[in-house]
Amino acid sequence: MTASDSAPVPGTEFRLAGIPASPGVATGQLVIFSHEELPVHSTPIAEEQIEDEMRRLEVALLKTREQIQKIKKQLAHSLGAQQTEIFEAHLLVAADSTIAAAVRRQLHMRKVCVENVYQHVIHAYAQSMKEMEDPYLQERAADILDVGRRVIHNLLGRKLADLYALDVPSIILAHDLSPSDTAMLNRQMSLGFATEVGSTTSHTAIMARSLNIPAVVGLHNMLARCEPDAPVIIDGYAGILIVYPTEQTRYDYGQIAKRQHEVEQSLEILRDTPATTKDGRRLVLSANVELPEDLPLIAGSGAEGIGLYRTEFLFLNRVQFPNEDEQTIIYQQVVQASLPHLAIIRTLDLGGDKLPTHQGIDPEPNPFLGWRAIRYCLERPEIFKVQLRAICRANPGGKVRVMFPMIATREELAAALALLAEAREELQAAGIPAAAEVEAGAMIEVPSAALIVDRLAPMVQFFSIGTNDLTQYTLAADRTNERVAALYQPTHPAVLILIRQVVEAARQNGIWVGVCGEMASDVVMTPILLGLGVDEMSMGSVALPRVKKAVQSLHYGECQALADRLIKMDSGEQTRKVLAELAQQTYPELMI
Ligand code: PEP
Ligand code: MG
Repeated sequence: MTASDSAPVPGTEFRLAGIPASPGVATGQLVIFSHEELPVHSTPIAEEQIEDEMRRLEVALLKTREQIQKIKKQLAHSLGAQQTEIFEAHLLVAADSTIAAAVRRQLHMRKVCVENVYQHVIHAYAQSMKEMEDPYLQERAADILDVGRRVIHNLLGRKLADLYALDVPSIILAHDLSPSDTAMLNRQMSLGFATEVGSTTSHTAIMARSLNIPAVVGLHNMLARCEPDAPVIIDGYAGILIVYPTEQTRYDYGQIAKRQHEVEQSLEILRDTPATTKDGRRLVLSANVELPEDLPLIAGSGAEGIGLYRTEFLFLNRVQFPNEDEQTIIYQQVVQASLPHLAIIRTLDLGGDKLPTHQGIDPEPNPFLGWRAIRYCLERPEIFKVQLRAICRANPGGKVRVMFPMIATREELAAALALLAEAREELQAAGIPAAAEVEAGAMIEVPSAALIVDRLAPMVQFFSIGTNDLTQYTLAADRTNERVAALYQPTHPAVLILIRQVVEAARQNGIWVGVCGEMASDVVMTPILLGLGVDEMSMGSVALPRVKKAVQSLHYGECQALADRLIKMDSGEQTRKVLAELAQQTYPELMI
């Protein structure tokens, strides 16, 4: 399929090509989402119009409060009441009488339409909040701007695309979607999304795969060419967005969806079978989880426990971070959902593209090289310790696994382990029931850690290789930047050499090693990971049946020989080609 660049004519099919980020096909109506403000004019008004303008504002504020209440209700239903506190804060802003009084004063002074005055007042108010000493008040600025945007839309009679309160089956279009935005999506109504920027291992794309909805990223200049409410098909296999699809196109895609469904059904019988290769090498396949709502999916996927629970998603859309009791309850649910297997709870990996809406981490010039993950946690022991205590409390008397992200040095790992020991001792001293056994692991996702892995291995019970970050840091190619997507090569020999080194160090120290990056969910990569000797692969539960089928179709011995060969190749492109051909020959049905 080719994408056309011609100018769109409403009602005539046109195709936009990007990067496939999450497989699947969906048909729906376009919703255009943006954090940007609408431009407002400064239409002059007469003195006697002021009361009318104030009434317009009151109507818009009332509508805004109703909309926020609706979102709050929907979110409380889908995500639980704790997740709605941002909207409590928004309601307070929408009912703030000082803002309304300031608008009235300025209407008298400036005599221009209320939308213009309101926007000025909101900006000034947000700016004064940003300048406050108190970090809590500083963070109110974001709420004020959010509510302001909503009120302006209502004043202008424009519809604000609400990711949280979509009421028709929609395909979301945006310049970019942050993981915080994606975490709030109304799941029933979000059929897929397409963004102008981003790449396949950005956390937004990872979430699309967990939600099992198609996504296409890197669709440059798409927004200018699409209209809200247009009918579209999103093809997450080929990375195409088709606007105004013809009947024939709809039919063709119906056939693809049907074939896809048949493959999924045929894999269901594998659910309770072990992931064992033809020559008897047994692998553990476990699940990656981003949000507690995904926990029910695990049982159906045949996963042997949770290999990566990304705790930071609990912290993204929160005015206050969850306290110890709240975290304990959620981690208990995670442990329960994994039974009879174990869950690996990863400590907070905030930073990079996962920025909390509140409790700010200030924007940084190089967020992926900055104050992220363990670096943030070690400097915020008051936040980190709460989490470690909650993890230890997640399975009283039983066993829990915890792992630390983005370890770059031995000192960081030692400091994290010391805080974990302290958390356990505190619980013990206070007589609070906690896990009898805590296994600790290090994520290997920074080349420095992979290169000194023999020195880290004696400190932990397992390693989990984060190939998403290991690839980005090894090739110095930002995982969220579609412009360097071609350089972002998990199959580059440099990455493969590092993985092999990690596996060897784990073997020598008698600990197990898994992979929890997106490589683990791609059946093209299964032979090389198998051949490099990893013990576990953890992936979004939707991908798991396919990877199990791939493992069952392969010979470990052959994969080892393949790994020896690929590691000596000259480029990531060559290795990728060999792997793609092998996958196509061995399990063509999985390669749709
Ligand atoms: C990784 O980097 O491979 C990983 C699993 O962690 P995350 O994607 O959350 O950075
Ligand atoms: Mg990572």
